[in-house]
Amino acid sequence: MTEIIPGIYMIRLILPDSGVGSINVFLVKGADGYLMVDTGWNMDKVFDSFKAQLTELKIDIKDIKQLVVTHIHPDHMGLAGTLQQLVGAKLAVHYLESALIYSRYKNMDNLLANVRRLLHTHGVPEERVSELQMASTAAAKYVASARPDIALYDGNTISTGLFNIEVIWTPGHSPGHICLYEPEKKILFSGDHILPVITPNVGLHPESSFNPLGDYINALKRVKQLGVSLALPAHGDPFTTVNERIDEIIHHHQVRDRGILRVMRSEQKTAFQIASQISWISDTNGVGWEALSPLDKRLAVLETIAHLEAMSANDIIVREKKNGTIYYRTSGKPYPA
Ligand SMILES: [Zn+2]
Ligand SMILES: [Zn+2]
Repeated sequence: MTEIIPGIYMIRLILPDSGVGSINVFLVKGADGYLMVDTGWNMDKVFDSFKAQLTELKIDIKDIKQLVVTHIHPDHMGLAGTLQQLVGAKLAVHYLESALIYSRYKNMDNLLANVRRLLHTHGVPEERVSELQMASTAAAKYVASARPDIALYDGNTISTGLFNIEVIWTPGHSPGHICLYEPEKKILFSGDHILPVITPNVGLHPESSFNPLGDYINALKRVKQLGVSLALPAHGDPFTTVNERIDEIIHHHQVRDRGILRVMRSEQKTAFQIASQISWISDTNGVGWEALSPLDKRLAVLETIAHLEAMSANDIIVREKKNGTIYYRTSGKPYPA
């Protein structure tokens, strides 16, 4: 664990066998206890590590009075229900994320049926749909049942008595993703919105907006206006070069757009066909389609759809539905320089 500035602490929790490796959770001191940002998986190993690091910081777990999760993905919300029950901490979540808890963690049937429909409509062959459809269900076991106490909205201020923290709605990676901003020191708890090394997955999903990538880029540009001096990301190390990183992430998506346009040429293709023909960059190496896990294949298809829909919102691409399948083709309008 690390003291970032007096009164703000970072605790890193290892997530065994996860793609991201670990998550950072944060404690912000208040006049009467602590505000905690994000939680880690609901797993004994993770919770034990959390408690051990709290002890080292001489913080009593019962002094955690409020929990804010940046979004409801398992690595962020997993332990929220456990902490709610154990210490009575109040859980605050953006209202759009709150609405996803039931379909993700209580009864997935409807969501899974819609994921199947979406994949099928975008050209995933019948014999591969099931594998891709079920690929994300395993992580749900790391989430303790939780019911938010407080709905957050963009522009809300959360006061701990010592720090005033602003809620900034940053949709894209998840529809109700939020960052938290401490304006005096210009510190941003960036969740998964801005990470120092990896780029967060932004995909079209049955529960996303129609243009999640457009939302994401707009939210990045909005954060850029803040002039953040220090970002505290959920994965990786805190970093100061926030606006440079925002530019890099926007560039990464432009490169992916161009890669998609190259594969499309002037032919009509489904998102699945395009996703399986482009090189997937794990930020360091280009990875071919067949080397991807079923979950990564699904994320790749949903991310491809997000790119296609963002370009179709800009009239660079045209979408057509034929016999229940959605095809995309280039419109001839050039990609902006
Ligand atoms: Zn996430
Ligand atoms: Zn995450």
